Amino acid sequence: MIKPNSVIGILGGGQLGRMTALAAAELGYKVHVFTPEQDSPTEHICFKTTNADYLDEAALTMFASEVELVSFEFENIPYQTLEILEQHAPVFPSSNVIKICQNRVREKDFVNSQGIATAPYQRVVGEDELADAIAKIGVPSILKTSEMGYDGKGQQKLEVRNQKLEIKENTEYVLEGFVPFSMEISVIVARGKDGETACYAPCENIHKNHILDITIAPARISDELAEKARAIAIKLANGLDLVGILAVEMFVVGDNIVVNELAPRPHNSGHHTTDSCVTGQFEQFVRAICGLPLGSPAQHTKAEMKNLVGAEVHDAQKYLTDANAKLHLYGKNDARLGRKMGHVTKLEV
Ligand code: AMP
Repeated sequence: MIKPNSVIGILGGGQLGRMTALAAAELGYKVHVFTPEQDSPTEHICFKTTNADYLDEAALTMFASEVELVSFEFENIPYQTLEILEQHAPVFPSSNVIKICQNRVREKDFVNSQGIATAPYQRVVGEDELADAIAKIGVPSILKTSEMGYDGKGQQKLEVRNQKLEIKENTEYVLEGFVPFSMEISVIVARGKDGETACYAPCENIHKNHILDITIAPARISDELAEKARAIAIKLANGLDLVGILAVEMFVVGDNIVVNELAPRPHNSGHHTTDSCVTGQFEQFVRAICGLPLGSPAQHTKAEMKNLVGAEVHDAQKYLTDANAKLHLYGKNDARLGRKMGHVTKLEV
């Protein structure tokens, strides 16, 4: 167990790091954030900041020597960064978990290896393999870059077989069959060092311009389907031998569930848990990586979370007139198009 007053290292200085640092402070820990970004949302509220590049070996070594353990708020970290850090401090979740979750092909191979369904898919490098994949997967389908894609970035939808798609040489893609889902849901599960798990109820996610807009918690699905979704998330966390927190994005297709994506960190769709559950996802994440017992994930109040994206933040104060709404702003100055600036959780009390 990591003792109170110890320093936890977090890679990444965005809102997820910020809310993790707030939860860590509640449990008596300090957070040292490592981020290339100056004036980051996490820096505003944490104990110490290192501003350096993720491949700056000297800075990474120094950072790792000053913390009890290292975790991260996003999974697109260069693998070399983790290899350097692991020589000096424990890293949770492990580099193996990140290796799987930062590449869509490895991720889907892993999910299928656990006996869990994904969309049909094929790895693609170059025009010839693309033609072959289109012949096998058919249309409609979606071409995604294997790495570094999020919020719909790096995705092209294929509606007809002879449609022209842009693909770069020597870049790995995955062609996925389009899943005719009725709903998108996600399940967040925490897993501790002793293998104990705590799984939140599935929540329902509605996107706007490829960015999460609204999360309804719990999802409006049957108890049987909710149980199926939880079982999938727990199985994946166990299969990864995860220490930390995992979000599993899923599609509902009839009575079945198809896994879309994994994120081994706190997740936007779990933001409501801070206000609606006994133990919020950020606290649970800190408990898991610090070797503390996990808290109850039970939801005490129904909730609807709305992301405040770009200019939506300008009139955020209006939410304060609703006494049952909890406003969370991330301290970002520049409300650029598509940038997540804050969120508001409306509690159904
Ligand atoms: P992703 O970056 O994989 O999370 O995809 C972003 C969004 O695109 C998802 O939340 C879905 O709305 C949609 N999407 C991605 N993959 C598929 C698929 N295979 N079939 C249908 N919709 C998809």
